[in-house]
Amino acid sequence: MHEEPYTQALLDMVLAKADGKAVTEIRLAVGQCSAIVPAAVEIFFRHLSEGTRAQGAALVFEARPVELTCTVCGTIVAPEISAAMPIRQALGLALARGCTHCEGKLKITGGLGFDLINLTVGDDIRHAPPHLSDRFHGET
Ligand SMILES: [Zn+2]
Repeated sequence: MHEEPYTQALLDMVLAKADGKAVTEIRLAVGQCSAIVPAAVEIFFRHLSEGTRAQGAALVFEARPVELTCTVCGTIVAPEISAAMPIRQALGLALARGCTHCEGKLKITGGLGFDLINLTVGDDIRHAPPHLSDRFHGET
């Protein structure tokens, strides 16, 4: 269960960024292979944000697909996802198979993390600096 510490860190970041103003919307990217469950984040957020300037803010989750990149030729390979196989298993198979073009080694380049994209403070959209999102990468 990683969601509570993540949600607390997210809330701290959002409040720092909002600069004392009321937060109306928080937009988050959720990797297809992220260890974070959006519904749980939503529940913890409602609880943790009570009495803060982020209370009542809408959480918007944007799904980010898993992306694999060949370390040899740079081809981007999407693992075959089906309902019959858990995503992590499909990912493992794709990694074991290697690049579909040159059979080179693949590395995961997207779809793992849980990142703050931006937040709306009143009518003002504030983008998260990219380095902040590093804090939200779950262990795999
Ligand atoms: Zn390749």
